[in-house]
Amino acid sequence: MAFSAFRFGPIAIPLEQVFLISKQSYALVNLKPVRPGHVLVATRRPVARFNDLTQSEVLDLFTQAQRVSKVVERVTAAESLTLCIQDGDKAGQSVPHVHLHVIPRFEGDFATNDDIYDALAHQPRVDNHERTPRSPDDMASEALRLREEIGSQWNEIL
Ligand code: AMP
Repeated sequence: MAFSAFRFGPIAIPLEQVFLISKQSYALVNLKPVRPGHVLVATRRPVARFNDLTQSEVLDLFTQAQRVSKVVERVTAAESLTLCIQDGDKAGQSVPHVHLHVIPRFEGDFATNDDIYDALAHQPRVDNHERTPRSPDDMASEALRLREEIGSQWNEIL
């Protein structure tokens, strides 16, 4: 089965920026990561809120999030991870499509540990120095690296 693009809210994500595909979810690299290695796991079905998901979609989203967590830890040598869903605009959601953030964490990476939530916010109060949009080439090469790390299992649909 061939894919030209994945939906991410109103955005079309090219296959080159996707590094994991399951029956109900996919993982993509980030246009504006808060830190290198910050990636996203989204549902294939374009719905905005966590409560919109079926039980089977919840199971698949979190199963893929766990796979992605392992890969991100290996590739970045992260000591910990922040996993989070901003569920609704009042919670900071800027793309109205259910997605889970996977962010590598290191000792001292933010002045205060929870500053990461300010960095994630649409208009951060702290440290957004790396949040400039990346080039498609840069994003594609990160996705390729992550696919290679996952191996042939990166695409469960093919
Ligand atoms: P949230 O604010 O929780 O809805 O998260 C949206 C995430 O999507 C942020 O991490 C953005 O950097 C990321 N993002 C926005 N547009 C794109 C895009 N075209 N490709 C990949 N990631 C994106």
